[in-house]
Amino acid sequence: MCNLSSEASCNLCNHHLEDTIHTLRDCNNAAPIWNSLMMDIRFDCCKNKPLKEWFTFNLVTCKNLSFGDWNWPVVFAIVCWQVWKWRNAKVFSNHSIPLDKKLETIANIMKEWNEIQSRDKLDKPKGRWLTGFGLNIGNCSIDSAELWVIYHGVKYARQLGMDFVEIESDSNNSVLAIKQGVSINHTLAPLVNAIKELLTNDWHWKIEYIPREKNMAADWLAKWSCNQNRGLHLLCRFLTGLGNIILADCVGVGHPRLVTN
Ligand SMILES: [Zn+2]
Repeated sequence: MCNLSSEASCNLCNHHLEDTIHTLRDCNNAAPIWNSLMMDIRFDCCKNKPLKEWFTFNLVTCKNLSFGDWNWPVVFAIVCWQVWKWRNAKVFSNHSIPLDKKLETIANIMKEWNEIQSRDKLDKPKGRWLTGFGLNIGNCSIDSAELWVIYHGVKYARQLGMDFVEIESDSNNSVLAIKQGVSINHTLAPLVNAIKELLTNDWHWKIEYIPREKNMAADWLAKWSCNQNRGLHLLCRFLTGLGNIILADCVGVGHPRLVTN
């Protein structure tokens, strides 16, 4: 009923043994596709390899090889899978697909694959510099300076349409003021309330205290800001002075903190 055969030979080309390498590479259902794709001289050496070496060459040796815009191991895996499906369509349903249609199908799958990959890259910036800012508000108390920085940072994040923000401050007073609120008589109450008005429930945010040593880039920016004109400085570009600090952060360089009782 399923056209399953008790013969070891190939139904498609009458080769005496339809084993895996024959089905995926050597059969006349597969070979014309590989011949169309493997125009590169680098592939000549793999045409007669046994199955295991053939897989190793295409998936491991060629792991960084590009075929136009396509990553070769991905093309290889997709072609293997399609060859198997087309073989079954022919054997079980006598459905033949012309070579140009097969190549078109592979190209469409690869196009879709590349689109998904580039969408993924956009969704996950993986640590690249998005933006930054520095603020110089002149002489004021440390608590006031910290809260103004948080206020402008949160406001900027909202303007950019960010829907998730993690606020890290090395001022525990500021973090507590925002989390727990302050008395209406507190001199910084209007500023705390302005921050709380921005931190509404329609986006995801969290705020926590971290010691200065855990965010040396923010510490560098705070010192940099003291030497700038008064006001807010938006940094769409990465500042050269931050390079070593961010590099150290990426490779996990520690900044020990001396704590005394
Ligand atoms: Zn065959």
